[in-house]
Amino acid sequence: MRKYSIRKRVLVTGGAGFIGSHLCEKLLAAGNDVLCVDNFFTGTRDNIAHLLGEPHFELARHDVTFPLYVEVDEIYNLACPAAPVHYQYDPVQTTKTSVHGAINMLGLAKRVKAKILQASTSEVYGDPQVHPQREDYWGHVNPIGLRACYDEGKRCAETLFFDYHRQHRLRIKVARIFNTYGPRMHPNDGRVVSNFIVQALAGEPLTLYGKGAQTRSFCYVDDLVDALIRLMATPDGFTGPVNLGNPAEFTISDLAQLVIAATGSKSKVVFRPLPPDDPLQRKPDISLAEQHLSWRPRIPLDEGLRRTVAYFRGAEAAALPRVAAYA
Ligand code: NAD
Ligand code: UDP
Ligand code: UDP
Repeated sequence: MRKYSIRKRVLVTGGAGFIGSHLCEKLLAAGNDVLCVDNFFTGTRDNIAHLLGEPHFELARHDVTFPLYVEVDEIYNLACPAAPVHYQYDPVQTTKTSVHGAINMLGLAKRVKAKILQASTSEVYGDPQVHPQREDYWGHVNPIGLRACYDEGKRCAETLFFDYHRQHRLRIKVARIFNTYGPRMHPNDGRVVSNFIVQALAGEPLTLYGKGAQTRSFCYVDDLVDALIRLMATPDGFTGPVNLGNPAEFTISDLAQLVIAATGSKSKVVFRPLPPDDPLQRKPDISLAEQHLSWRPRIPLDEGLRRTVAYFRGAEAAALPRVAAYA
């Protein structure tokens, strides 16, 4: 294909979402032409409103389960609802988004010979029996449970990426992203960091599911986006899958206390039933990322929470509706 500009043309699917909007911002700042494609299922125009006036930024409303014909050099495939409340709202559409979306974006990458990165997830490990999780662990996933539409959809997308790589010589990168948080998480998305911050700021009790003894490892969004961009720039021989996340592990009870401290709230905690198939523990082994991306997260949880709380206190987040999304 003929190229008339020295700028790279980069497609970000799911670009109006939480992580996608930060990624679009960084890619633009680095001098790329950015095409953000989103169907606004969980993302919003507000997340990228500040980019709309930029001459090298373009927004297209499009659902990746339908074919997309554009000319680009690199594709970041992030389109997919990520919070359990959202991905379980229309589970069939969730699987379609991961699977048909991957096929369409891989078909596009094949036609225009673009390099393509998949936003996969630590959920491919399911409720892990190996701790911490390394990339060579195959996982422990319930294929018929409530989380399966997301977990198995993402696993199938990984399969498609590796088959397009082997069969069609596509240049692929697969990132297994662990729990990421930060500004522009939607206050209604039901994820633990946003839930706790919204509850603490409203002076309501923080809802601990189960005993709050389950663990997660939380990565601040700036660290994660930095890793995604580094991964895309690795030599073609490096495909991943590679874990991206912050290995500092916290129980959900610890997190509640940190959020209470970061907000200065007087909220207490209340216990609620543990959702089915909720993984007991999760922590990435990031040696592969350290080796190939020369990367490790820099922002500790207390600092990341401070920045996220500042966002949720601000007018932007306060303007968003606080009714339970699909209650
Ligand atoms: P998000 O819900 O904020 O963003 C997803 C974006 O994809 C939204 O803008 C949504 O409107 C869009 N989208 C959904 N279905 C689509 C479709 N069919 N066509 C076009 N756009 C569609 O979630 P996020 O946290 O920013 O996650 C981004 C990606 O990273 C997802 O693929 C997610 O699975 C992955 N990921 C996120 C985390 C995390 O902790 N945030 C962890 C692991 C993996
Ligand atoms: N596709 C797309 N954009 C393109 C090229 C292909 O959306 O620029 C879609 C197309 O709809 C197809 C899918 O990607 O269904 C897979 O393409 P591929 O070439 O691998 O398979 P085929 O077209 O043979 O089904
Ligand atoms: N969680 C919780 N209270 C909430 C929301 C979530 O205790 O208000 C728990 C949830 O059960 C899980 C952990 O926090 O064990 C992380 O949940 P989240 O939905 O953020 O992400 P995921 O389960 O996909 O890692």
